[in-house]
Amino acid sequence: MDATTAFSPDPRAAAAAARRDEAVRAAVEQGIVGPDAPLAALLDITGIRRSAAALRAAFAEVTTAPVLHAFAVKACPLVPVLRLLNKERIGAEVASPGELALVSAAGVRPAHTVLDSPAKTPAELRQALALGIAVNADNPQEISRIDTLTRSAPTRSPVGLRVNPQIGGGSIGALSTATATSKFGVGLRDEGAREWVVRAFLDRPWLTRLHTHSGSQGIPLELLAEGVRVTYELAEEINQLAGRRQVDTIDIGGGLPVNFGSDAETPTFAAYARLLKREVPGLFDGRYGLVTEFGRSLLAKHGTIVARVEYTKAAGNRPIAITHAGAQVAARTVYAPDSWPLRIAAYDAKGRPKTGPAVAQDVAGPACFAGDLLAENRPLPLLQAGDYAAALDTGAYYFAHHYAYNSLARPGVYGFSAGTDGADGAGGPDGGAVRFATVRTPQTPEELVAESGGAHTRALDSL
Ligand SMILES: *Cc1c(COP(=O)(O)O)cnc(C)c1O
Repeated sequence: MDATTAFSPDPRAAAAAARRDEAVRAAVEQGIVGPDAPLAALLDITGIRRSAAALRAAFAEVTTAPVLHAFAVKACPLVPVLRLLNKERIGAEVASPGELALVSAAGVRPAHTVLDSPAKTPAELRQALALGIAVNADNPQEISRIDTLTRSAPTRSPVGLRVNPQIGGGSIGALSTATATSKFGVGLRDEGAREWVVRAFLDRPWLTRLHTHSGSQGIPLELLAEGVRVTYELAEEINQLAGRRQVDTIDIGGGLPVNFGSDAETPTFAAYARLLKREVPGLFDGRYGLVTEFGRSLLAKHGTIVARVEYTKAAGNRPIAITHAGAQVAARTVYAPDSWPLRIAAYDAKGRPKTGPAVAQDVAGPACFAGDLLAENRPLPLLQAGDYAAALDTGAYYFAHHYAYNSLARPGVYGFSAGTDGADGAGGPDGGAVRFATVRTPQTPEELVAESGGAHTRALDSL
């Protein structure tokens, strides 16, 4: 037992913490992190599988209608992860040609893919419609484009329209997509907009879906459910006026928030699904197919950034640990620390949880600006050179969202399966039972040069 697992009232949380401790220890022993590889990202494959199963079970409990769970690829755009999720019967939500390429590399079928970007080009639309990928249009201009494209080439793609219920935002403005002036979808409360949407459906028999996504981290569950209710009521209105079930599927987006304060996975998918069923019962009576687009809630808890402490020092009497993880792998935390605080776990040079009295200290990154801190004035066992600082809950929107500041290399990402499932709270004695698989190799200096114009070294000589 150690600081991260002791006295946890939640056995699943304790098991996840135990798997993590075991993996960090094994990563140090097996050289995945160490003096020559001072930064690595670890993914708990057991945890990811469990979250996928929990998502499926949560919606199976509230409806018998078909549900496509489409993982929001932007949360963790790594091909092996998309394939793992696909094997767990989770499809993909994409929003760029790059994300679509990742998804096809992972083997996700078009029928399990949804395209949602707010800025799709004609070529992207044509490709998606040719492949039969579900497309959610963002705005009236895009509907006109699809009019033209479907006239020249009929499509099997289910086509929907994204609406903005304009129900307001949450605690993080940048992630609130259902505000009055959000850039996404058609704002239903704007003058004439609802009438336009209804007309657009009645004029186009092929428009069969409604899509909403009210935002992400920081949006209360009740507000998410309210956005779904408004969208459901619009579907009912359209179907009534059409005299048939024209809208047959509602895409409720993602946005389930993640608890960054402890290992507990709250709120759960089950709690959200039950809340939705209570607030919008008609959506679950079997008449509507469903699409979900969860991202952060499937992956965040299962990722850990492990960074070696290179030096320690003190300034103004505050101890500082200089590590190899900063803005390049935790941009949101570094630039908006109040919105995105991360838990930090301290491990010793052998990868064992560090004990000792908590000392307020800064955990700094390697980048050359003063704000490059993973945590400021954080009470932790005092880190020493050669120890490891781990940034927890970083499986979504962190290490897969590299920021190229200082040309710091993208770290390697490694999936692990722990020797035990950690259920007894005990790690393996030597970490030998943990198996790692490379998800992404660390970026090399040669690759950095190549992506920084290395093929055009002399390009400016002649200008
Ligand atoms: C980002 C996004 C999601 C996923 O949001 P999470 O908060 O990661 O669950 C789903 N749908 C759309 C349209 C998005 O933009």
